[in-house]
Amino acid sequence: LPAGAADVFPGARECLGRAGRGEVAGPEAGNLFSGLARRFGTPLYIYDEETIRGQIRRFRQAFESLFPRVRVLYALKANASLAVVRILKSGGARAEVVSGGELYLARQAEFSGDQIMFTSSSKSPWEIDAAIRAGAVLNLDSFDDLEAASEAAGRLGARATISFRINPGVDPTTLHQINTGITESKFGLHIASGIAFSAFERARRLPNLEIAGAQCHIGSQIASTAGYEETARRMLALLLDLRDKLDLTLRFLDLGGGIAIPYRPGERIMTPEDLARALLPVWGSGVAALGYEPELWLEPGRFLVGPAGFLLMRVNSVKVTPVKTIVNVDAGFNDLIRPVLYGAYYRVFAPGKSGPTSSVDVAGVICETGDILASDRMLPRLCRGDLLLIPDAGAYGFSMASEYNLQPLPAEVLVRSDDRAAVIREREPLEEFLRRQRVPEDLL
Ligand SMILES: *Cc1c(COP(=O)(O)O)cnc(C)c1O
Repeated sequence: LPAGAADVFPGARECLGRAGRGEVAGPEAGNLFSGLARRFGTPLYIYDEETIRGQIRRFRQAFESLFPRVRVLYALKANASLAVVRILKSGGARAEVVSGGELYLARQAEFSGDQIMFTSSSKSPWEIDAAIRAGAVLNLDSFDDLEAASEAAGRLGARATISFRINPGVDPTTLHQINTGITESKFGLHIASGIAFSAFERARRLPNLEIAGAQCHIGSQIASTAGYEETARRMLALLLDLRDKLDLTLRFLDLGGGIAIPYRPGERIMTPEDLARALLPVWGSGVAALGYEPELWLEPGRFLVGPAGFLLMRVNSVKVTPVKTIVNVDAGFNDLIRPVLYGAYYRVFAPGKSGPTSSVDVAGVICETGDILASDRMLPRLCRGDLLLIPDAGAYGFSMASEYNLQPLPAEVLVRSDDRAAVIREREPLEEFLRRQRVPEDLL
């Protein structure tokens, strides 16, 4: 396919909106998804531009209506497709990056340096240099980071704008693997031990640095407000300590991302409006004590893109075993790893199909017993060649995809508000597997 090839699929936008709500049994859905599969192949990531625009608009509105000085940074690791990042930039988001690679992408998406925050618990020297050269906020996670940033800025003849990643010691209750704010996690400088305070103290004595803020990120897929409230309380107390004891005021306080989306049918969870309302009184009293109001920064990833994405896949075979029916599809954990990595739940639908259902396991292509995308799901009778659809796949889907088993990375298409479907990433050709490989000439 030529890059950016776009076809019109009449009714596509509206149909995707309904598919996100799980309404896919009708013939329109059947036609749309079989059309997309024919045109672009499977497995295929499909993103709905309007949903992405709606999510950033809603998130900003929820906070901007209560916090005059809020800044929303999109966490690129949720989905770093250039087209997706551009949509969020035009929706008013800044960028939160966790690697030199994401920093490069953010620059390609034309974020200015001061719109970018670089966070990582383990920064390589080239990444620190790149962040300073770009003029990004460098979010430091250790005393070694701090020394390295000061040295690098001096060497580059620049001033590094810095903040510190703080570990507030709060457990927001989410999956262990994505629970980052607890005391045991590898992230951040701890408030409790006094290390966080000492880091700011030390930073003030080092050259070439401008201390701009404090940041934390307590985890991902957090469904209730309590952890954020406690975190905000502790972070504001740290800021008060910095003001009182070091006479230090900060430009921003960053409370991170982690806002959950519902994955299960009918799941009721915290909304951005709930979170904004819950934070307001904590913020109000914290700021009153401080005597100045820092900017409030937030770093949502999943919330902005998760609900906008779909993974479309085709059934290769249906097999009845003595214990269950297995539906083998052409996607696997190479395309969508969260079910296998975290036991994450995704809804699965058979677009355009209705009728009596029975329980099946949806199994991936990868040669590992664990490659099950969904187990024990009630689905209509499926045959070889049928399509299956996973909604809510816009975050941590493609961005965590791999070439394991030499499965090519899937294509991605963007459905525009005028029903055009545009390729935003071509399916990986097989030659790509060899492109950077070299075999020594004397190897027999
Ligand atoms: C992953 C991450 C985010 C985004 O998390 P979501 O759960 O996708 O909102 C924000 N900030 C940092 C530092 C992260 O590592």
